[in-house]
Amino acid sequence: MLFRTHLATLALAASASALLAFSARAEGKLDVVASFSIIADFAQNVGGDRIALTTLVGPNGDAHVYEPKPSDAVAVAGADVVLVNGLEFEGFLPRLLEAAGTKAPIIELTKGGEVLKPEEDGGHSHGAEAKQADGHDHAGHDHSHDHAGHDHGEYDPHAWQSVHNAETYVNNIADAFCAADAAGCDVFKANAAAYVEKLEALEAEIKSTVSAIPEEKRIVITAHDAFGYFEHEYGIDFIAPEGVSTEAEASAKDVAAIIGQIKEQRASAVFLENITDPRLIEQIAADTGVKVGGTLFSDALTDASGAAPTYLEMMRHNINTIKAAIIGS
Ligand SMILES: [Zn+2]
Repeated sequence: MLFRTHLATLALAASASALLAFSARAEGKLDVVASFSIIADFAQNVGGDRIALTTLVGPNGDAHVYEPKPSDAVAVAGADVVLVNGLEFEGFLPRLLEAAGTKAPIIELTKGGEVLKPEEDGGHSHGAEAKQADGHDHAGHDHSHDHAGHDHGEYDPHAWQSVHNAETYVNNIADAFCAADAAGCDVFKANAAAYVEKLEALEAEIKSTVSAIPEEKRIVITAHDAFGYFEHEYGIDFIAPEGVSTEAEASAKDVAAIIGQIKEQRASAVFLENITDPRLIEQIAADTGVKVGGTLFSDALTDASGAAPTYLEMMRHNINTIKAAIIGS
Protein backbone atom coordinates (compact mmCIF):
# COMPACT_ATOMS: atom_id res chain seq x y z
CA MET A 1 0.00 0.00 0.00
CA LEU A 2 1.39 3.31 -1.12
CA PHE A 3 0.61 5.22 2.07
CA ARG A 4 2.25 2.62 4.29
CA THR A 5 5.38 2.53 2.16
CA HIS A 6 5.59 6.28 2.22
CA LEU A 7 5.25 6.40 6.00
CA ALA A 8 7.87 3.68 6.41
CA THR A 9 10.28 5.62 4.22
CA LEU A 10 9.73 8.74 6.27
CA ALA A 11 10.27 6.86 9.54
CA LEU A 12 13.43 5.20 8.27
CA ALA A 13 14.81 8.54 7.19
CA ALA A 14 13.98 10.05 10.56
CA SER A 15 16.10 7.47 12.33
CA ALA A 16 19.14 8.83 10.53
CA SER A 17 18.51 12.23 12.04
CA ALA A 18 20.61 12.09 15.20
CA LEU A 19 23.79 12.88 13.31
CA LEU A 20 22.28 15.92 11.58
CA ALA A 21 20.81 17.24 14.82
CA PHE A 22 24.20 16.86 16.45
CA SER A 23 25.95 18.85 13.73
CA ALA A 24 23.48 21.74 14.07
CA ARG A 25 23.86 21.77 17.84
CA ALA A 26 27.61 21.62 17.52
CA GLU A 27 27.48 25.05 15.91
CA GLY A 28 25.53 26.24 18.93
CA LYS A 29 22.49 27.18 16.87
CA LEU A 30 18.86 26.50 17.64
CA ASP A 31 17.60 23.93 15.13
CA VAL A 32 14.30 25.30 13.83
CA VAL A 33 11.85 23.79 11.35
CA ALA A 34 9.22 26.05 9.76
CA SER A 35 6.30 24.43 7.96
CA PHE A 36 6.15 26.94 5.07
CA SER A 37 7.90 29.96 3.57
CA ILE A 38 5.98 32.76 5.33
CA ILE A 39 6.60 31.31 8.80
CA ALA A 40 10.23 30.75 7.80
CA ASP A 41 10.59 34.46 7.01
CA PHE A 42 9.16 35.42 10.42
CA ALA A 43 11.45 32.88 12.13
CA GLN A 44 14.55 34.22 10.37
CA ASN A 45 13.68 37.77 11.38
CA VAL A 46 13.30 36.75 15.04
CA GLY A 47 16.09 34.18 15.20
CA GLY A 48 18.77 35.94 13.16
CA ASP A 49 22.04 34.04 13.19
CA ARG A 50 21.19 32.16 16.40
CA ILE A 51 19.04 29.67 14.48
CA ALA A 52 19.61 27.04 11.78
CA LEU A 53 16.39 27.08 9.77
CA THR A 54 14.80 24.36 7.64
CA THR A 55 11.65 25.14 5.62
CA LEU A 56 9.36 22.25 4.64
CA VAL A 57 7.12 23.87 1.98
CA GLY A 58 9.41 26.26 0.15
CA PRO A 59 8.85 29.28 -2.15
CA ASN A 60 5.84 28.97 -4.50
CA GLY A 61 4.87 25.70 -2.76
CA ASP A 62 1.28 24.82 -1.84
CA ALA A 63 1.06 23.61 1.78
CA HIS A 64 -2.58 22.52 1.34
CA VAL A 65 -1.59 19.61 -0.89
CA TYR A 66 2.10 19.16 0.01
CA GLU A 67 3.53 15.63 0.21
CA PRO A 68 6.35 15.42 2.76
CA LYS A 69 9.75 14.10 1.72
CA PRO A 70 11.97 11.75 3.74
CA SER A 71 14.33 14.67 4.39
CA ASP A 72 11.43 16.53 6.05
CA ALA A 73 11.05 13.72 8.61
CA VAL A 74 14.79 13.92 9.27
CA ALA A 75 14.59 17.67 9.84
CA VAL A 76 11.58 17.40 12.16
CA ALA A 77 13.10 14.54 14.14
CA GLY A 78 16.25 16.54 14.80
CA ALA A 79 14.58 19.90 15.49
CA ASP A 80 14.68 21.87 18.73
CA VAL A 81 11.51 23.79 17.76
CA VAL A 82 8.90 23.12 15.05
CA LEU A 83 6.85 26.14 13.93
CA VAL A 84 3.49 25.53 12.23
CA ASN A 85 0.44 27.60 11.33
CA GLY A 86 -2.22 25.27 12.74
CA LEU A 87 -5.96 25.53 11.94
CA GLU A 88 -5.42 22.47 9.69
CA PHE A 89 -3.49 24.50 7.10
CA GLU A 90 -0.75 21.87 6.92
CA GLY A 91 -2.74 18.75 6.00
CA PHE A 92 0.49 16.73 5.82
CA LEU A 93 1.52 17.51 9.39
CA PRO A 94 -0.10 14.70 11.47
CA ARG A 95 1.42 12.06 9.19
CA LEU A 96 4.83 13.72 9.19
CA LEU A 97 4.93 14.14 12.99
CA GLU A 98 3.98 10.51 13.45
CA ALA A 99 6.74 9.36 11.12
CA ALA A 100 9.36 11.68 12.62
CA GLY A 101 8.55 10.92 16.26
CA THR A 102 10.10 14.22 17.34
CA LYS A 103 10.42 15.41 20.93
CA ALA A 104 10.56 19.05 19.82
CA PRO A 105 7.71 21.35 20.84
CA ILE A 106 5.25 21.88 17.98
CA ILE A 107 4.28 25.57 18.16
CA GLU A 108 0.99 26.59 16.51
CA LEU A 109 1.57 30.24 15.68
CA THR A 110 -2.11 31.15 15.28
CA LYS A 111 -2.63 30.54 19.02
CA GLY A 112 -3.89 33.76 20.59
CA GLY A 113 -4.55 35.39 17.21
CA GLU A 114 -7.89 36.45 15.84
CA VAL A 115 -9.31 33.64 13.70
CA LEU A 116 -12.23 33.69 11.29
CA LYS A 117 -14.61 31.10 9.97
CA PRO A 118 -14.64 30.59 6.21
CA GLU A 119 -17.29 32.60 4.41
CA GLU A 120 -19.86 30.70 2.39
CA ASP A 121 -20.91 33.32 -0.12
CA GLY A 122 -17.62 34.15 -1.78
CA GLY A 123 -16.95 37.02 0.54
CA HIS A 124 -19.61 39.51 1.44
CA SER A 125 -20.46 39.09 5.08
CA HIS A 126 -18.31 41.62 6.85
CA GLY A 127 -19.67 40.46 10.17
CA ALA A 128 -17.50 37.34 9.88
CA GLU A 129 -17.25 35.61 13.20
CA ALA A 130 -14.01 36.43 14.93
CA LYS A 131 -12.59 34.37 17.71
CA GLN A 132 -9.33 34.04 19.59
CA ALA A 133 -7.49 30.90 18.51
CA ASP A 134 -7.00 29.89 22.13
CA GLY A 135 -10.70 29.19 22.36
CA HIS A 136 -11.89 32.50 23.77
CA ASP A 137 -14.88 33.82 21.85
CA HIS A 138 -14.90 37.66 21.55
CA ALA A 139 -18.66 37.90 21.43
CA GLY A 140 -19.14 35.39 24.22
CA HIS A 141 -21.40 33.19 22.12
CA ASP A 142 -20.71 30.68 19.45
CA HIS A 143 -22.38 30.68 16.04
CA SER A 144 -22.21 27.10 14.94
CA HIS A 145 -23.24 27.33 11.31
CA ASP A 146 -23.11 24.21 9.27
CA HIS A 147 -20.42 24.94 6.70
CA ALA A 148 -21.45 22.40 4.11
CA GLY A 149 -18.68 21.89 1.59
CA HIS A 150 -15.95 23.12 3.95
CA ASP A 151 -14.68 19.88 5.37
CA HIS A 152 -11.19 21.17 6.13
CA GLY A 153 -11.60 22.50 9.59
CA GLU A 154 -13.71 25.01 11.34
CA TYR A 155 -11.52 28.07 10.74
CA ASP A 156 -9.97 29.77 7.75
CA PRO A 157 -6.26 28.99 8.19
CA HIS A 158 -4.85 32.00 6.24
CA ALA A 159 -4.58 34.11 9.41
CA TRP A 160 -1.25 35.73 8.38
CA GLN A 161 -3.14 37.75 5.76
CA SER A 162 -3.99 40.08 8.65
CA VAL A 163 -0.86 42.02 9.61
CA HIS A 164 -2.18 42.23 13.14
CA ASN A 165 -2.17 38.44 13.30
CA ALA A 166 1.35 38.39 11.85
CA GLU A 167 2.42 40.23 15.02
CA THR A 168 0.97 37.37 17.05
CA TYR A 169 2.94 34.85 14.97
CA VAL A 170 6.15 36.82 15.57
CA ASN A 171 5.59 37.16 19.33
CA ASN A 172 4.76 33.44 19.57
CA ILE A 173 8.00 32.65 17.75
CA ALA A 174 10.00 34.82 20.17
CA ASP A 175 8.38 33.03 23.14
CA ALA A 176 9.15 29.60 21.65
CA PHE A 177 12.77 30.55 20.95
CA CYS A 178 13.18 31.96 24.46
CA ALA A 179 11.87 28.70 25.94
CA ALA A 180 14.35 26.68 23.88
CA ASP A 181 17.35 29.01 24.19
CA ALA A 182 17.17 31.20 27.30
CA ALA A 183 20.60 32.70 26.63
CA GLY A 184 19.31 34.18 23.37
CA CYS A 185 16.05 35.50 24.77
CA ASP A 186 17.03 39.18 24.90
CA VAL A 187 18.15 39.03 21.27
CA PHE A 188 14.95 37.24 20.17
CA LYS A 189 12.75 39.77 21.98
CA ALA A 190 14.66 42.72 20.52
CA ASN A 191 14.51 41.24 17.00
CA ALA A 192 10.78 40.58 17.36
CA ALA A 193 10.13 44.12 18.60
CA ALA A 194 12.07 45.62 15.66
CA TYR A 195 10.15 43.46 13.19
CA VAL A 196 6.79 44.28 14.78
CA GLU A 197 7.58 47.95 14.17
CA LYS A 198 7.99 47.15 10.47
CA LEU A 199 4.67 45.28 10.56
CA GLU A 200 2.96 48.29 12.06
CA ALA A 201 4.35 50.55 9.34
CA LEU A 202 3.19 48.01 6.75
CA GLU A 203 -0.32 47.93 8.16
CA ALA A 204 -0.59 51.74 8.05
CA GLU A 205 0.60 51.66 4.45
CA ILE A 206 -1.98 49.03 3.44
CA LYS A 207 -4.80 51.01 5.04
CA SER A 208 -3.72 54.19 3.31
CA THR A 209 -3.50 52.43 -0.08
CA VAL A 210 -6.95 50.88 0.34
CA SER A 211 -8.41 54.28 1.20
CA ALA A 212 -7.26 55.57 -2.21
CA ILE A 213 -9.48 52.99 -3.96
CA PRO A 214 -13.14 54.02 -4.36
CA GLU A 215 -15.26 51.83 -2.09
CA GLU A 216 -17.61 50.59 -4.81
CA LYS A 217 -14.64 49.30 -6.82
CA ARG A 218 -13.13 47.20 -4.02
CA ILE A 219 -14.31 43.85 -5.42
CA VAL A 220 -11.78 41.44 -6.94
CA ILE A 221 -11.50 37.75 -7.83
CA THR A 222 -8.89 35.15 -6.88
CA ALA A 223 -8.84 31.39 -7.52
CA HIS A 224 -8.88 30.09 -3.94
CA ASP A 225 -10.39 31.74 -0.90
CA ALA A 226 -7.16 32.82 0.80
CA PHE A 227 -7.84 36.49 1.50
CA GLY A 228 -10.67 36.32 4.06
CA TYR A 229 -8.48 37.97 6.71
CA PHE A 230 -7.28 40.65 4.35
CA GLU A 231 -10.91 41.37 3.44
CA HIS A 232 -11.97 41.45 7.09
CA GLU A 233 -9.14 43.79 8.14
CA TYR A 234 -8.77 46.10 5.16
CA GLY A 235 -12.10 46.16 3.35
CA ILE A 236 -11.34 44.69 -0.08
CA ASP A 237 -13.98 42.13 -1.15
CA PHE A 238 -12.54 38.90 -2.56
CA ILE A 239 -14.64 36.40 -4.49
CA ALA A 240 -13.18 32.94 -5.15
CA PRO A 241 -14.52 29.87 -6.99
CA GLU A 242 -12.43 27.51 -4.84
CA GLY A 243 -12.76 27.18 -1.07
CA VAL A 244 -10.16 27.89 1.61
CA SER A 245 -8.17 24.86 0.47
CA THR A 246 -6.78 24.21 -3.01
CA GLU A 247 -7.46 20.50 -2.55
CA ALA A 248 -10.89 20.46 -4.19
CA GLU A 249 -11.16 22.00 -7.66
CA ALA A 250 -14.04 24.34 -8.34
CA SER A 251 -16.98 22.56 -10.00
CA ALA A 252 -18.55 23.82 -13.24
CA LYS A 253 -21.50 24.92 -11.11
CA ASP A 254 -19.22 26.93 -8.75
CA VAL A 255 -17.57 28.62 -11.71
CA ALA A 256 -20.93 29.46 -13.34
CA ALA A 257 -22.14 30.95 -10.04
CA ILE A 258 -19.00 33.05 -9.71
CA ILE A 259 -19.30 34.32 -13.26
CA GLY A 260 -22.88 35.39 -12.54
CA GLN A 261 -21.75 37.12 -9.34
CA ILE A 262 -18.87 38.90 -11.08
CA LYS A 263 -21.16 40.30 -13.77
CA GLU A 264 -23.81 41.36 -11.28
CA GLN A 265 -21.41 43.01 -8.83
CA ARG A 266 -19.05 44.44 -11.45
CA ALA A 267 -15.82 43.05 -10.04
CA SER A 268 -12.86 45.27 -10.91
CA ALA A 269 -10.21 42.64 -11.70
CA VAL A 270 -9.30 38.97 -11.50
CA PHE A 271 -5.92 37.84 -10.17
CA LEU A 272 -3.67 34.84 -10.67
CA GLU A 273 -1.98 33.20 -7.68
CA ASN A 274 1.49 31.66 -7.55
CA ILE A 275 0.13 28.40 -6.10
CA THR A 276 -2.97 27.79 -8.24
CA ASP A 277 -3.57 26.79 -11.87
CA PRO A 278 -3.90 29.97 -13.99
CA ARG A 279 -6.40 28.39 -16.42
CA LEU A 280 -9.42 28.79 -14.16
CA ILE A 281 -8.79 32.52 -13.72
CA GLU A 282 -8.06 32.96 -17.43
CA GLN A 283 -11.38 31.28 -18.23
CA ILE A 284 -13.23 33.56 -15.81
CA ALA A 285 -11.55 36.61 -17.33
CA ALA A 286 -12.52 35.48 -20.85
CA ASP A 287 -16.14 34.72 -19.86
CA THR A 288 -16.73 37.97 -17.95
CA GLY A 289 -14.55 40.44 -19.82
CA VAL A 290 -12.93 41.42 -16.51
CA LYS A 291 -9.19 41.97 -16.88
CA VAL A 292 -6.43 39.91 -15.29
CA GLY A 293 -4.78 42.36 -12.89
CA GLY A 294 -1.60 40.39 -12.18
CA THR A 295 -0.51 37.78 -9.62
CA LEU A 296 -1.26 37.86 -5.91
CA PHE A 297 0.60 35.86 -3.27
CA SER A 298 -1.37 34.28 -0.46
CA ASP A 299 0.12 31.02 0.84
CA ALA A 300 3.74 31.13 -0.29
CA LEU A 301 6.53 33.62 -0.86
CA THR A 302 8.55 33.63 -4.07
CA ASP A 303 12.24 32.90 -4.28
CA ALA A 304 14.65 35.85 -4.08
CA SER A 305 14.21 36.72 -7.77
CA GLY A 306 10.40 36.92 -7.55
CA ALA A 307 8.02 39.72 -6.57
CA ALA A 308 7.41 38.53 -3.01
CA PRO A 309 10.55 37.07 -1.38
CA THR A 310 9.55 38.31 2.10
CA TYR A 311 6.27 38.76 3.97
CA LEU A 312 6.65 42.54 3.97
CA GLU A 313 7.23 42.57 0.20
CA MET A 314 4.37 40.10 -0.38
CA MET A 315 1.82 42.25 1.42
CA ARG A 316 3.03 45.45 -0.30
CA HIS A 317 3.02 43.74 -3.68
CA ASN A 318 -0.55 42.46 -3.17
CA ILE A 319 -2.13 45.75 -2.22
CA ASN A 320 -0.19 47.76 -4.81
CA THR A 321 -1.14 45.24 -7.53
CA ILE A 322 -4.81 45.44 -6.51
CA LYS A 323 -4.73 49.24 -6.51
CA ALA A 324 -2.95 49.40 -9.88
CA ALA A 325 -5.48 47.02 -11.45
CA ILE A 326 -8.44 49.02 -10.17
CA ILE A 327 -7.38 52.65 -10.51
CA GLY A 328 -3.96 52.58 -12.15
CA SER A 329 -0.71 52.99 -10.24
ZN1 LIG B 1 -4.64 28.61 0.88
